[in-house]
Amino acid sequence: MFNTAFLDLPPLASAGGTVQLPGSKSISNRVLLLAALSQGHTDIYDLLASDDTHVMLEALKTLGCSVEYVSTNHVRIGGMAGKLITKEAKLFLGNAGTAIRPLCAALTVLATTQGASFELSGVARMHERPIGDLVNALRAIGGVVTDLGKPGFPPLQLGDGAPHTLDLSKPIQVRGDVSSQFLTALLMALPLVAEQDTVIEVVGELISKPYIDITVQLLARFGVNVQRDGWQRFTIQAGARYQSPGSIYVEADASSASYFIALGAIAPSDQGITVQGVGLDSIQGDIRFVEAAQAMGAQVSGTANGLHIQRGAWPLIAIDLDCNHIPDAAMTLAVMALYARGTTTLRNIASWRVKETDRLHAMSAELRKLGATVDEGDDYISITPPASTDAWTTAPIATYDDHRMAMCLSLAAFNPKQLSTRINEPHCVAKTFPDYFEAMFALSTPVAGRVPVICIDGPTASGKGTLSQLVAQALGYAWLDSGALYRLVGVAADLAHLSTSAEALAQPAHAQAVGTLAAAMQVRFDAHAVYLDGADVSAAIRTEAAGMTASRVSALQPVRDALTALQQGFAKAPGLVADGRDMGTVIFPDAPLKVFLTASAEQRAQRRYKQLISKGNSANIDILLADLKERDARDMNRAHAPLKPAKDALLLDNTGVTIEQSVLQVLAWWQGKQAS
Ligand code: C5P
Repeated sequence: MFNTAFLDLPPLASAGGTVQLPGSKSISNRVLLLAALSQGHTDIYDLLASDDTHVMLEALKTLGCSVEYVSTNHVRIGGMAGKLITKEAKLFLGNAGTAIRPLCAALTVLATTQGASFELSGVARMHERPIGDLVNALRAIGGVVTDLGKPGFPPLQLGDGAPHTLDLSKPIQVRGDVSSQFLTALLMALPLVAEQDTVIEVVGELISKPYIDITVQLLARFGVNVQRDGWQRFTIQAGARYQSPGSIYVEADASSASYFIALGAIAPSDQGITVQGVGLDSIQGDIRFVEAAQAMGAQVSGTANGLHIQRGAWPLIAIDLDCNHIPDAAMTLAVMALYARGTTTLRNIASWRVKETDRLHAMSAELRKLGATVDEGDDYISITPPASTDAWTTAPIATYDDHRMAMCLSLAAFNPKQLSTRINEPHCVAKTFPDYFEAMFALSTPVAGRVPVICIDGPTASGKGTLSQLVAQALGYAWLDSGALYRLVGVAADLAHLSTSAEALAQPAHAQAVGTLAAAMQVRFDAHAVYLDGADVSAAIRTEAAGMTASRVSALQPVRDALTALQQGFAKAPGLVADGRDMGTVIFPDAPLKVFLTASAEQRAQRRYKQLISKGNSANIDILLADLKERDARDMNRAHAPLKPAKDALLLDNTGVTIEQSVLQVLAWWQGKQAS
């Protein structure tokens, strides 16, 4: 996730590939509970990993269900077949409404009929969230529920340890205008005790109908068919039983899919975009965004669990659409409108005003920054794109603490003027999709040469590694430690029993062999370790000896050639900070900011000494100073890519300067480059 104050998206040229979207929270928690109540084991794939699903899983374990984590996206639940395994337990449900409401209903009917007693509680805020309408409905059929705090709110005690009978002879009434979750909870609980046809009647206008649809469809997957008469009356047939479907996939969030459908519609691509996790059979209302995207020109085909999107009509086709059925995903249409010929009007979206922010106002303001002409009405928005490529403009995009604003507006990175796009507060995407930008970058190819690269070159132990990592972190950029690559070559040569002595390397054929080895290395960096051909070599490359070997092999042209493309490949959106000796002179000669970092040899020797000692290595300061001078001399005097500042590098002598000051200096230089 990007935790930076802003994120600069380089102009993007194309996009293609496959994205796996995170699962939907409402589906995840429903499926978990249904699996636990069913007969048999259920293999659940693509479950959302979040606080709310975590508390549900913990509750199921406490109730005695088996929960097996088969792999990262695969959980196996052993169902209780409607029979309580544990008769007494306290369940803590955090602030998860999707957990406490259905559990309250299901455990009330089970505890009452089977003679058990459970306590449900949550965080303080949960104890302020009403549940009285559900409790009243349960009490009306004889369910035993005791308020343990303020009446009508959790905490609650369900059952009293003795068995009682429920009266299901009359329709059960529940209010539908406060939260549709009360109805969902009853729909999930009553099949457990439906000896006879059981009827639920909704009192008042039912809100959030698509969520009830999700509940009814999931019940059917678990073997329980509910007969629905309008949105007022639901009948569960006598003898209903939950039966595991064996395995079930949690759909991805259909609203999140809209950004990738739009990406496919906008970005040129040979392969198109494949979205995994949500398909044409989706039970989420926002899947109907697909039809709107098709109307704008996108070519969308799908399977039950996936979608494939390719650019069709280009420019896109302007539409005039009532979007009441897809209020969240409709925001994505507003940004697609930037790429359409003519004026797009999205109607019947007054609800935008009362979401995370006033989305009608926010969307109008931000689209205008990009050069669009926008007409904002009470319940509609009309967008006319910039009149020509030249008419596109840019300014930092405000996101209003609204995840969807950030995700939608990222699509402006495809603007034909190839302006970069700044998204403020990009971390707001965490609400539903923490890794949204990573996912988008993984699919997108920036305009050639437009990924920003900051080069930080300098002699050994000048502090480039620490400085570049901190700068990279502040900007959300990737980091290339090019020295590590030369160190890896040394380690790879040792492993291959190729000598790295000065004499051996002086032989052209031997130098060539080391170069060939360097070209074949499979290198992978992650947050904590460096891997060479799959093996963790983080410790091996950090010794002083490895540094000396690196210095010798790095003088060889075949080795430098072998690593050039590898290093350039690290330049990926949104940007790169590269440190080494020749980042600014050879590898990224067009980089907009080049820093040459120096410090006195004595101070560098001191730093290296501290570094080695802190890692538990032995070290001698005099030997370190001598080695360091020897490496400086070799790096500066070698024939190939000698260490020297690039002509346009900015010099930073950090002797006696704190690392924080150096970071601020580089960020200030970078900010200056952005402005120009
Ligand atoms: O920076 P570090 O000490 O890890 O680099 C190890 C050696 O690799 C350096 O002494 C230098 O000789 C070589 N090197 C290089 N070009 C780079 C980075 C490192 O020649 N871009």
